[in-house]
Amino acid sequence: MRTGRDYLAAINDDRTIYVDGQRVSAVADHPAFSPIARTIGELFDIAADPASKMTFTAPETGAEANRVYGIPRSREDLTAFRHAAETWARHTHGWVGRSPDHVASFINGFAAHPEAFSAGERDFSENVLAYHRRMQTESPYVSYAIIPPQVSRATTAHAWEGDFVQVGVVSERSDGIVVRGAQMLATGGPVADEILVSCIKPLTDDDADFALSFVVPVAAEGLKLYCRRPFAPAATSSYDYPLTTRYDETDALLVFDDVFIPWEKVFVYRDVAGLRRQFFETGAHVLGNWQSQIRFSVKLQFLAGLARKVAAVNGVDKFPGVVEKLGELASLTSLVESAVLAAEYTAAPDESGLWRPGKRAVYGAMGLQAELYPRALAILRDLVGGGVLQVPSGIEDMRNPETRSDIDRYIYSPGAPAEERIKLFKLVWDAVGSEFGGRHHQYEMFYAGAPFVVKGYAFRNYGFDGPLAEVDEFLASYGVD
Ligand SMILES: Cc1cc2nc3c(=O)[nH]c(=O)nc-3n(C[C@H](O)[C@H](O)[C@H](O)COP(=O)(O)OP(=O)(O)OC[C@H]3O[C@@H](n4cnc5c(N)ncnc54)[C@H](O)[C@@H]3O)c2cc1C
Repeated sequence: MRTGRDYLAAINDDRTIYVDGQRVSAVADHPAFSPIARTIGELFDIAADPASKMTFTAPETGAEANRVYGIPRSREDLTAFRHAAETWARHTHGWVGRSPDHVASFINGFAAHPEAFSAGERDFSENVLAYHRRMQTESPYVSYAIIPPQVSRATTAHAWEGDFVQVGVVSERSDGIVVRGAQMLATGGPVADEILVSCIKPLTDDDADFALSFVVPVAAEGLKLYCRRPFAPAATSSYDYPLTTRYDETDALLVFDDVFIPWEKVFVYRDVAGLRRQFFETGAHVLGNWQSQIRFSVKLQFLAGLARKVAAVNGVDKFPGVVEKLGELASLTSLVESAVLAAEYTAAPDESGLWRPGKRAVYGAMGLQAELYPRALAILRDLVGGGVLQVPSGIEDMRNPETRSDIDRYIYSPGAPAEERIKLFKLVWDAVGSEFGGRHHQYEMFYAGAPFVVKGYAFRNYGFDGPLAEVDEFLASYGVD
């Protein structure tokens, strides 16, 4: 099994990553990326440790593989996947959205339905199957960029000013294709091994050049990653910013300057309908988003724990109004936990034998996420009051005896001396108020699409036929006469 050390050595390649106008070398050692790279490495070490029970014998290769790269072919497989995804999510307390199990879930879905990749003009099914087998053998960290750059949402790529703003195919060769343009925001991209590049937003027939799906090594010649400001380098210490200093997974715009993609890495080619088939007919979308809800439920539990602890430290946890707020947070959290389990309970095999988590539960929980997460943050902010700002500026204030004596005397709570109290409140601030916390707020609202898109999934996958029939039957049971 791949270890953290293997992973860290692999990403120190010749990739082109820009931060503050400079090209970064050796990402695994760079202050912006080494914290998250170390965390991802820890995930691989956990998976490689037999105690985590995260491995299984993959039927596709006959060899041991990480469970997160397995196609669920029974309810037990789904349970085992959930345990594996939860094990990883617990290590990061849900603060790493694009851990390697996320895109792996999509590829698992692709590989369960290779026929979805042979229905276009060319047959790419063998590419998908081979890539999935390689994932099982090599455990790569694959991130993805499946949204066009935010240029205009009133039109699609073919109508935008300038050629190839969204990544598209500029030329075809006997051994592959050459792609040019940009794609929006690959979270984890700078520290991934490879990136799945595709488009989940609906395209028109005029957008065939942009209707692609392929995987590309981050170090591919001509691929450049423009990162949003990394937060980890500005974090003064892990005591001051305990989340930022471990989990700032970074987001990057991808720019393809005529990048060559060999045919064997292409899954969809100039096929608008093929894009939708790959995400929705294969089960990839529901598998990937079930993984997201597993991770999200772990994060909400962490926030609930924080709120409960803050209330106890401040001595307000017995007040009825506070109990009500904690109760609301408990309800929100348990709804998501329940949806994760309900998806497993209502799962069913499709015609290929892939066990698909129940769509109603997965998309139902997702549909509320853009309200639910901000509400959870609001409760935590409410409970914590100004305590998150009644803290010294940084760890040096704790070390300087001149300032420390006042800190010890005035910033404490019963049962929580200054060092403990400040530690807790700085952790809350990193969750709700730091740049890292703000980015997470945006992430939970948008990672699966804008709220109107996600509610559309909830609408389409709920299955209104039953409730409609029930209402019609009831209406038919009485009348004026
Ligand atoms: C922190 C973060 C991390 C991300 N990581 C990834 C990643 O790893 N991989 C990846 O592929 N993508 C990632 N994304 C991108 C994400 O998928 C997109 O943000 C999401 O799909 C929404 O697209 P958009 O941001 O362009 O918003 P838009 O589509 O521009 O929508 C913004 C708002 O405009 C309005 N709007 C737009 N169109 C319509 C419409 N047709 N009808 C009604 N209202 C409309 C809505 O109010 C909507 O909320 C990430 C985003 C964030 C914020």
